[in-house]
Amino acid sequence: MTNKSSSEEKSENDKEVKLRGVINCMIDQVSELYVKMEIDHNEQLYHFIDHAIEVVLAEQQDKDGHFEDPIDLKVRQDIVEENYIKCAACGTLNSKRKQKCTGCDEREGIKKAKLDQKNTKPDPKKKEKIPKLVFIHDEDQSKVSTVTTEFTQYDHITTNHKGKHELVLTDPVYCNPNSIKSVALVLRKIGQENGIHRYGGNKCHWTFVCCDGLPYLIIKKLKEEALVCAITGCHETFLSRDLYEKHCEQIHQGSEKQFMHEFDWMYLRIGAGHYEMNLVKSFFELNWTPFLETLCEIMGFCTDSSKQFAKSCKDHHKSWRLLLIFHLSSFQELVLPYVRNCLSTRCPPTAKGFLTSGIEKYSYGNYQNFKYMLDQVCKFSQGIVNFRMATWRNNADLLKSSKYMTKELFHGRNHPKYQKIELYDTIQDRMMPDNVRELNDLYASITTSGNPSAGEDLDFVLEEKNKQLKAWIPKGMPTDIIWQTVCRNNRALEKIKNHSLSLFGIQSTKYVSRPLGIEDAITAYRTCLRRSNYLDKEKDHTSISGMALDEGLVNFVHEATKKRIVMLRTEFLGEIFEEQSTFKHPLPITPSEREKLQSFGNMTIKQIQKEIHKMLNKIPDPFQFDYHNYIYEQEVETKGKTKLLNFLEELKRVMETLDTEFEDQIRYNFDGYACQHIKSYNIW
Ligand SMILES: [Zn+2]
Ligand SMILES: [Zn+2]
Repeated sequence: MTNKSSSEEKSENDKEVKLRGVINCMIDQVSELYVKMEIDHNEQLYHFIDHAIEVVLAEQQDKDGHFEDPIDLKVRQDIVEENYIKCAACGTLNSKRKQKCTGCDEREGIKKAKLDQKNTKPDPKKKEKIPKLVFIHDEDQSKVSTVTTEFTQYDHITTNHKGKHELVLTDPVYCNPNSIKSVALVLRKIGQENGIHRYGGNKCHWTFVCCDGLPYLIIKKLKEEALVCAITGCHETFLSRDLYEKHCEQIHQGSEKQFMHEFDWMYLRIGAGHYEMNLVKSFFELNWTPFLETLCEIMGFCTDSSKQFAKSCKDHHKSWRLLLIFHLSSFQELVLPYVRNCLSTRCPPTAKGFLTSGIEKYSYGNYQNFKYMLDQVCKFSQGIVNFRMATWRNNADLLKSSKYMTKELFHGRNHPKYQKIELYDTIQDRMMPDNVRELNDLYASITTSGNPSAGEDLDFVLEEKNKQLKAWIPKGMPTDIIWQTVCRNNRALEKIKNHSLSLFGIQSTKYVSRPLGIEDAITAYRTCLRRSNYLDKEKDHTSISGMALDEGLVNFVHEATKKRIVMLRTEFLGEIFEEQSTFKHPLPITPSEREKLQSFGNMTIKQIQKEIHKMLNKIPDPFQFDYHNYIYEQEVETKGKTKLLNFLEELKRVMETLDTEFEDQIRYNFDGYACQHIKSYNIW
């Protein structure tokens, strides 16, 4: 339809061929690139397994031919405490139901012991600390703002930070970038401020734009749909293809269509901070029933509302701690039988040896609990930990590896936004010219302090900056002018602050890492796993609390991979699939969820549409409404049952999280805060 020269057509053609190549490569997952990503992952995996082996090995004591450790003692002690009471007079252990002591034959001793138990709160016993992961430091310590032995610094990962970066702030754009129109507005402003040729500037032809999930998808849409009429003298802009078509019919009847993509001057970057948050969220969503509900109960999340809080990861910092507790303690319990076996056969335990034995264990017996947990820990929670380490240390290779290893978390369940983001992000990375990719990789994250372990992606750098800016704003609702003033004077204000802090001898504690303090939690969780004999149970796959899990869950990775391939082929290659029932739903976690999904699938298209309309009208946030309504009309309403069902599920999830987020969004909006989520950065 467009009027193109043959050379342009050829380059379009080349692009199409390259895209097909990239996608086929993503489907096969066998090329050198994938081997390298797995090696990068395994290097960290071995590192963590070796640490777990070291911890467990040091705990074992030989007791007449069998091994015991402090966790066994704790299990026994717990059982005794729950079932027996020690007579205060003679010290005999009595069953809790006994009134009269079997030792001294008196009632007084037991009576007193029961009273004492009631009156004394459990005293926080000083437990032996489990050794922490300690790594060798970067050689260049003098420039590091803080030096610490905590493993949160991840010193064993190669860091590619090259000194610190200063952020240059431009004026804020006063709108919330959650609707198509306002995002286009923000992008144009970014284009103008950065001297992009498309907007008459003369500084550069293209740039990177970093943002979080919702604006990311809107920008992706704009990159594909927004057109500039290129018919001589016209230059009118359109946010969708439909609008452009109408324009041509009305204004340029008879002439050949010519257009440009307005937003082809940028590469999109998904903010790593938000990506990580969503990985953690989907890990919690998937593993809530299998393991994490029990872990959270141990950690004191007992009421329904506090459990809901933990499950939906509303506090990322808390969720991260829970994830680490899960990750480290699960590894320690997983390696235990292997380590004991090595001790009795007198061969040194290794990470590789453990993995081989783990696979053997599964192929000989039917240890579904063991198999599923091994997958979740070795692939997913390790992948998420790698993601954070890679971001903090600015290591693009490890970052890509971690995205690759964790992607099924998005694709196996219902996370449509990040499913698309993961795929588009990967495709864009493979499609970039090599030198553009190299540049992008150099800045996988930046550090504003110079600390080589304090890398953040631009989304979090900016959020921190926003917090800083807010501190300068007087109480009450700030006007646009105040915001602008604070932004423009930001550097001067920061200088004054740092100067007076050093004058008074107050140092910023921003990057001092504190001890995690999760040792007790690790012991408690391991005790729970050990006591229930969870990992050594054969046959049925269950949760730690004993609930039956869906028979297909143990093959989660395999099934999720299939779903991803279907999405690649339908969304990116435009292939059409028969509506197969297996691809309709997210993979069920429990038998009752499977039933629910099936009955859900029996609804007629009319019923689903009606349900969706009801939900849409309940979305209180106008920006979220605008986006979802647009997506519904454009991509869902008439596009088949699978899409309708998935969209309905997505809406339910949006509603669950909106109750609390809504207030924040409104507040941010009044502050002129959220408007800065998308910005380009002059750091390149
Ligand atoms: Zn007694
Ligand atoms: Zn025109």
